[in-house]
Amino acid sequence: MREENQDTGWADLHVHTTWSDGVFSPEFMVQKASEAGLRAIAITDHDAVRGIDEAVEAGNKMDVEIVPGIELSTSNGIHDVHILGYFFDPHCSDMLEYVRYFQEERVKRARKIIDKLRKMGIRLNADVVIASAGHGAVGRPHIADALMEEGFVLSYDEAFYKYIGDGKPAFVKKPEISPAEGLALIHKSGGLAFLAHPGMDLTDDEIIQVVKQGLDGIEILHPKHSVDMVNHFYNFANIHRLLVSGGSDCHGNRKGEMMMGRFNIPYKFVSEIKKALHHF
Ligand code: AMP
Ligand code: ZN
Ligand code: FE
Ligand code: FE
Repeated sequence: MREENQDTGWADLHVHTTWSDGVFSPEFMVQKASEAGLRAIAITDHDAVRGIDEAVEAGNKMDVEIVPGIELSTSNGIHDVHILGYFFDPHCSDMLEYVRYFQEERVKRARKIIDKLRKMGIRLNADVVIASAGHGAVGRPHIADALMEEGFVLSYDEAFYKYIGDGKPAFVKKPEISPAEGLALIHKSGGLAFLAHPGMDLTDDEIIQVVKQGLDGIEILHPKHSVDMVNHFYNFANIHRLLVSGGSDCHGNRKGEMMMGRFNIPYKFVSEIKKALHHF
């Protein structure tokens, strides 16, 4: 039996499931975490919280600690700012209302994207694409899959590059909340807010803006972060007195490889987050 008080072991605080654009169920992801020897994972679906309870149930059986999480889509007007929430109450009414609104908006957006594609001569059945998301929030990855299946593109990346990537001809924006609104929602629900993959497209000035608005931490380890970036953000977190997190951003095997188990953070980081939570 593991000594629970010790800060030993590893964690992955960025995992997607079928409740957003991940390929696998929460239970399956917990199984994978267990196989990878992880002590804790956070389920962080895009604008969705419904996978958390299922993961907790599986986690209890498989001895994997589940951190309730979410990845909120916000925008500062120039760039997407993804904000990870951890340890909030997934049944908080503010959070539930937000995710319901967002899911409805995503369905409308998928139809708009498919309309744009139709005008370009590419016919996808919107109902089929939306249904392919199952109970999850429909996103561009589902449309990319459909474009591949119907033979309009040869690869997942080509779908984004040619059609549905940011600013491409069939791109449609998601409804946007500001980073400050995202932070407020997470804090109101009792959680801590972290900036996801800050190295992907934000400048340090843009990051500092969010820090000033009350950010609690930043994700330092991420598949899109180089070793230099990890070091940079580790120092950045020290300077700005931020907590640190990290993870695989695993979406299952959609892009051919399973990222879980390859981007682990020391469990000690999770302990630090919990300590900070108790100071509120
Ligand atoms: P959505 O939330 O519907 O806008 O979809 C965003 C997701 O699409 C991201 O989490 C990525 O998984 C994927 N994505 C976005 N841009 C690209 C891209 N250029 N190439 C491949 N995948 C992308
Ligand atoms: Zn995603
Ligand atoms: Fe993200
Ligand atoms: Fe993510």
